[in-house]
Amino acid sequence: MSLDRSQCPARDCKATDPLQQRISADILIEAGAVGDWTADARICISCGCVYSFYESAKLIQGFYDNPIAGPGWQATLSPDK
Ligand SMILES: [Zn+2]
Repeated sequence: MSLDRSQCPARDCKATDPLQQRISADILIEAGAVGDWTADARICISCGCVYSFYESAKLIQGFYDNPIAGPGWQATLSPDK
């Protein structure tokens, strides 16, 4: 399991350099997430923001168990990307 601290891409994330952890595609797909990005996704432990990497940018895909967005998977982008 890889854990590291880095800036969270979510604008409303209050934490400074929160822990970022890989989240498995199985968990995401089971929760209802769709897309190839699930193969290499990370989650911010602090706010539940789930993102993937597009070129060198962090692309927010949604939230998982976010205290504001709600429990489970909450997509922020259209599922066809
Ligand atoms: Zn965060």
